Amino acid sequence: MSNEKRRISNVAHHTKKASGPYMEGRKLIYQGPIKVSDLARLLKLSEAQIIKNLFMKGQMVTINNVLSPETVAELCLDFNFDYDFVEESDDDCDFGLAHIVDNPKDLKPRPPVVTIMGHVDHGKTTLIDAIRSSSIVSGEAGSITQAIGAYQKEINGKKITFIDTPGHEAFTAMRSRGTKVTDIVILVVAADDGVMPQTIEAIDHARAAEVPIIVAVNKMDKPSADLQKVKNELLAQNVIAEEYGGDVIFQPISAKKGTGIEQLLDAILVTAEMLELHANPRRYAYGTVLEARLERGEGPKATLLIQNGTLTNRDFVVAGAAYGKVRRMTNEHNKALKSAGPATPVAIIGLDEVPEAGDNFIAFETEKEAKELATKRKQIRIEESRGSSEGLKLSDLHKQIAEGETVVVNVIIKADNSGSAEAVRGSLEKINIDGVRLNIIRASAGQITESDVLLASASNAVIFGFNIRPNNQVRDLADRLKIEIHLHRVIYALLEQTEKALRGLLKPEFEEKVTGQAEVRAIWHASKVGTIAGCYMLSGIIRRDQTVRLLRDGVIIYEGEVATMKHVKNDVKESRAGYECGMTLLNYNDIKEGDIIEGFAMVEVKNG
Ligand code: GDP
Repeated sequence: MSNEKRRISNVAHHTKKASGPYMEGRKLIYQGPIKVSDLARLLKLSEAQIIKNLFMKGQMVTINNVLSPETVAELCLDFNFDYDFVEESDDDCDFGLAHIVDNPKDLKPRPPVVTIMGHVDHGKTTLIDAIRSSSIVSGEAGSITQAIGAYQKEINGKKITFIDTPGHEAFTAMRSRGTKVTDIVILVVAADDGVMPQTIEAIDHARAAEVPIIVAVNKMDKPSADLQKVKNELLAQNVIAEEYGGDVIFQPISAKKGTGIEQLLDAILVTAEMLELHANPRRYAYGTVLEARLERGEGPKATLLIQNGTLTNRDFVVAGAAYGKVRRMTNEHNKALKSAGPATPVAIIGLDEVPEAGDNFIAFETEKEAKELATKRKQIRIEESRGSSEGLKLSDLHKQIAEGETVVVNVIIKADNSGSAEAVRGSLEKINIDGVRLNIIRASAGQITESDVLLASASNAVIFGFNIRPNNQVRDLADRLKIEIHLHRVIYALLEQTEKALRGLLKPEFEEKVTGQAEVRAIWHASKVGTIAGCYMLSGIIRRDQTVRLLRDGVIIYEGEVATMKHVKNDVKESRAGYECGMTLLNYNDIKEGDIIEGFAMVEVKNG
C-alpha cells in the first residue's frame, strides 16, 4: 500500500443494507427470491395455500423452497396483494452489498467504451482490424496478438476502449442481464448495400440502451457506394444526419483501405466529450465480465471491463459467484499490469471457478469480504435453481414410472471449455426415451466445484464431467451428499452410458476407482530420464505399475503409466499418503509444479 493512495473500500460504513421483504399495508416490498415459509408469514397465508396454488400451476415446492421474484409477483396477484420489486441498487453495480456513492470530488474523466454493430458483411470485423492496426502507439508496436476480447486505443493522448465482439449477441446478452457496458455504438452500414434488417436491429438496441450512435458508412471505395442513399434510408429510421438537422455523425470510411478511420476515431472522442463520462479511480473496482474460460495451466481466466474504480494485482475479486485473489492481471497485449483504472479491459487469473459473460464483478481489500459475498451469491444461485428445479426425489422415481409419469432427471454438465459443454448438452438433449426427460440445469466450462455439488444436492441432479476431474475435496463432498458424478472423455461413451442408465439397463461390471493423488511440488529435468516430478502424496496410494493421469487445474492433460518411482535415491514399488516420492511418466515430460498425479484402477462392482 506504500505509495498508492488509499482506496475507498467497497463495503464498510458506506454499505447500504439489502433490506429483507416487508409489508406496507397490503403491499409486499421485496428485493430478491423469498422462501415459501417466509412469504406465507408475510402474506398471512398458510404454507399449504401457497404450495397448493403453485401445484395447480404445475410447480412442486416445499416450505423450504425459494421462490423467484416472478413467482412471488404472481402469487401476490393471485391472493390480491400489491407488490413492489425493488431493484437491488440504483447504480450499474447490482451488488447491493457494495452500494457506495462516489464523492463528486473524486470523479475523473474516463475513456468511452465503444461497441461496433451492423448488418452481416457490412464490414464490422474489417473495421475492428483497421482500428486495431491504425496509428500504432509506442510500446504497442509489434504486438499483433490480441490476448483478450477488448482493447484500448490511444489517440492524441486520449483513450478509447473497444469491445471486440462484433455483432449483437454480446451486446444483447449483457443488456438482458441488466448490464450496460457500452457508451457509444458505431453503426457500420455498407454504402453499396444500405440499411438492412440487422442495421435496424442495431439501431433498436442502441436506442433501448440509450446509447448514442455514430454511423460509419463503409465501403466508400466501391464504385457503387452511395452515401446520400444511406443517409436518406437512415433518416427514415430517425437516425438523422447533421445536414438534415439531426445530431448523428456520419463518417464515410473504407475499412479495407483504411481511409476515414482517423476521422471516425475523432468523432468518437467528440461524442465522448459531450457525454462527460466520469468515474472514480480512488475506489475499489467494479465492472462486468466480458468473457471467461478455463485456460490450460492457468485455471479460470476472465476478461473484465473495469467500469469504476481501480483494480490492482493484490485485490480480491468476486465475479458472478466466483472469487479469488488476483494472481495475475494482463492487458490485451498479455503484458502484466499492477493496476488498471476505469474503462480498462483486463484479463485476470486467480478465480476459483469460471464466471459467465455478463456477470458483474467487484473488488475488495480483504479475502474475508470477497469470500462472504461469493458464498452468499453461490447460495442464492443454488436456492434459485432449487426453486425452479422440478424436485425429483429418487425414492419417488419408481412410483412415478409405475404411474406412467414422465420422470425428470436434472443434470449438471461441466467440461473443459464452453464448446464441449455445449456439445455435451446438445447430445444429451437428443436422447429420447419414453418416460424420461433430461433437464439440464447448468452446462458450463470449468472444473467441478463444491458449488456444483451443492447445486446437485439441492436439485437432486447428477453431474457429468467431460474431460475434467474433481479434486479430493469435491469428491468427498459428493460422496457425503451421495451425488453421482459421471466422468467421461469421449462424447460417444457418455451418451451410450447415459442411455443405458436411463433405460435401466446399465449393470456396470467395472468401475473406475481413484487409488490416490500426489501433488507435484518440484520439477527436475534430467537428460536421460526426462522430467522428474518431486511429489507429495496427498491421499491414498499410487503404485509404480499402475495407470495414472496428470491433472492441471482439474483438466486431464495426460493419461498413461508411471515409468519410475523413487523415494530419496531408491526405487520403490508404491508411495502412500503423507510420503514424498519422485516420479517420471512414461513418454511424457510436460509436468509442472502444482499438477496432480492421480492413480486409478478399474475395480469390479458387485451388482444387486
Ligand atoms: P462483418 O460480417 O460485418 O464483420 O463484415 P466483414 O468485415 O467480414 O466484411 C465483409 C466483406 O466485406 C469482406 O469480404 C471484406 O473484405 C469486405 N469489406 C469490408 N470493408 C470493406 C471496404 O471498406 N471496402 C470494400 N471494398 N470491401 C470491404
